[in-house]
Amino acid sequence: MKIIMLGAPGAGKGTQAKMIADKYNVPHISTGDIFRSNIKNGTELGMEAKKYMDQGLLVPDELTVKILLDRVAQDDCKNGYVLDGFPRTIPQAEVLDKALSEINDKIDYAINVDVPDENIIRRMGGRRACLTCGATYHIEHIPPKKEGICDTCGKELVLRDDDKPETVANRLDVYHKQTQPLIEFYSAKGILKTVDGTVDMKDVFSAIESILG
Ligand code: ADP
Ligand code: AMP
Repeated sequence: MKIIMLGAPGAGKGTQAKMIADKYNVPHISTGDIFRSNIKNGTELGMEAKKYMDQGLLVPDELTVKILLDRVAQDDCKNGYVLDGFPRTIPQAEVLDKALSEINDKIDYAINVDVPDENIIRRMGGRRACLTCGATYHIEHIPPKKEGICDTCGKELVLRDDDKPETVANRLDVYHKQTQPLIEFYSAKGILKTVDGTVDMKDVFSAIESILG
């Protein structure tokens, strides 16, 4: 099963992608996590990506597409995957489609987690991320058991640089201009499914389960 998560930054794509990955036993692939882990490790790719991420801009397609295609070619992706944060532009979606069609394959579902901008602004300020294992929390809605510490790996939780209010507005703007057109792109292919992302995360997941079966 090959799934794409669509939605604004902070809509809950990562939260739901992890739950899908656990239940359906497919890897969760987040290009944002890949970039953040490169930044943490001080790689050349990380330093290049950070220039864009800190401004709330997209990392150029040339860098992003290669990383993603290399990742989905790995062995653990044979039975599918859930992509979180990719594609984010029409050219990225076209490259993915082409790469899949060359191996007679295709994306099964594009799940759009729908959350209005007002809720997004509130959510991002409360998000806390673990840069070690990629887990995400929310200080009010989904708090960790111990404040500031990741339940999964015990490392420190941080407010992402790009979750600061001045960057969030930019990211939303970029989302509407560059990423939202993908909703129409996948709708035209007949694989778009939209779920209400404003409800409790368990209820969002139930809606997704009824789509995936
Ligand atoms: P995305 O991957 O789309 O950027 P996340 O999954 O990181 O979004 O979620 C953004 C923030 O909102 C996080 O702090 C997360 O814990 C919180 N969150 C996710 N789903 C819900 C929900 N259904 N209700 C309230 N908060 C949520
Ligand atoms: P995310 O963790 O998905 O919110 O992504 C954080 C940041 O990483 C984005 O704001 C972009 O700067 C960058 N990024 C992640 N995925 C992509 C992508 N598919 N294309 C371009 N930039 C990306």
